[in-house]
Amino acid sequence: MPLTRDDALDLDAGDPLAGYRDEFYIPDDALIYLDGNSLGRPTKASRDRVRIVLDDDWGTNLIRSWEQRWVGLPNHIGDLIGRGLLGAAPGETIVGDTTTVALYKAVSAALDARPERSVIVIERDNFPTDRYVVESLAQQRNLTIRWIEERGPSGVAVDDVHGVLDETVGVVVLSHVDYRSAALVDMPTVTAAVHSAGAIILWDLCHSVGAVPLDLPRDGVGLAVGCTYKYLNGGPGAPAFTFVSSAMQAELRQPIWGWWSRSEMFEMEQGYRPEVGIRSWLTGTPGVLSMVGIEPAVELTVRVGMPAIRQKSMALTELAVSLYDESLAPLGCWLLSPRDPERRGSHIMLGHPDAASLTSRLVKAGILPDYRRPDGIRLGLAPLTTRFVDVYDGLERLAALIRA
Ligand SMILES: *Cc1c(COP(=O)(O)O)cnc(C)c1O
Repeated sequence: MPLTRDDALDLDAGDPLAGYRDEFYIPDDALIYLDGNSLGRPTKASRDRVRIVLDDDWGTNLIRSWEQRWVGLPNHIGDLIGRGLLGAAPGETIVGDTTTVALYKAVSAALDARPERSVIVIERDNFPTDRYVVESLAQQRNLTIRWIEERGPSGVAVDDVHGVLDETVGVVVLSHVDYRSAALVDMPTVTAAVHSAGAIILWDLCHSVGAVPLDLPRDGVGLAVGCTYKYLNGGPGAPAFTFVSSAMQAELRQPIWGWWSRSEMFEMEQGYRPEVGIRSWLTGTPGVLSMVGIEPAVELTVRVGMPAIRQKSMALTELAVSLYDESLAPLGCWLLSPRDPERRGSHIMLGHPDAASLTSRLVKAGILPDYRRPDGIRLGLAPLTTRFVDVYDGLERLAALIRA
């Protein structure tokens, strides 16, 4: 029996997470938002927090707020993400910089720790900024990039990684969830393979944190960065987090020395000495207004819990794939994501020759997905805010546009 809109409404009625949508600021309930993996919706609590910081902390309390409230925020929010969502111990996660700059710092520090090795490994399909950062470091240091070629919907496999490892590889940079296909890489197995080859792996968690349960210590991970404005709903341009395990902290030195990473920073002494611990990964003054929205949003995610979020995420992507099978494959679409829900994150990409124009027609119809070159329509199904009926209505509309 084909799926109906009532089936989707039934799924919403039985969804234990449905009520959390009320904790978000959603002024236009009719808009079908399928891009929460590019920019998460704001929580009401984040909106309130930003206003309070603006009026009370900045407006009224002024400079006193640095010492009283703000200096510790990079650690405080870092630990909230680290302990709540990464399995990290306190003092292993810090917030600050863009993901791009955080990537640069982490790859650079990892390369410094493997001076005798001349190769950096990255996949061709990785997010552009990850590739460009690696290209810049390779050029500056006269290193070679060894590419893992595009793997398509199945993603990077353990054998692909084995195929590029040898004693010349110093650093490997991989995304845990592919930003296009949503393919999920086997984190513990790949990490173990890279470490046993004597290299350091940096995981990019932008498309997994808040969508896929993570336990970095269990999986042997020592170094990772991730976004806070996608599934963590921290707000546009909210700073990235960097996780450095305490073992890696002993081995790595952050390369962009600034006053915020110096010990006794307020003494403003001659000469640089790194701060002890994860604060040595800071560089300059953090963007307070960009950072404060993260906390209430991450608190909500932690309160709901990643197992329940993952369960709903898989149900959402399963519904999308079922609707694709029923009504979009017969219209000439193809699936650009893994079929097995265990092997993908919280988005789905569908191929169609007219993907670009279909995407803009969807946007005009009040449905916001994302277009990915050359022929992908990407549907981000953020579990805390996406309803099953949104998936149904969005894909029905897509089918109608193709038929028209
Ligand atoms: C979104 C995303 C980024 C973004 O980097 P910014 O510096 O925040 O713009 C980086 N890597 C991946 C894998 C992403 O999905």
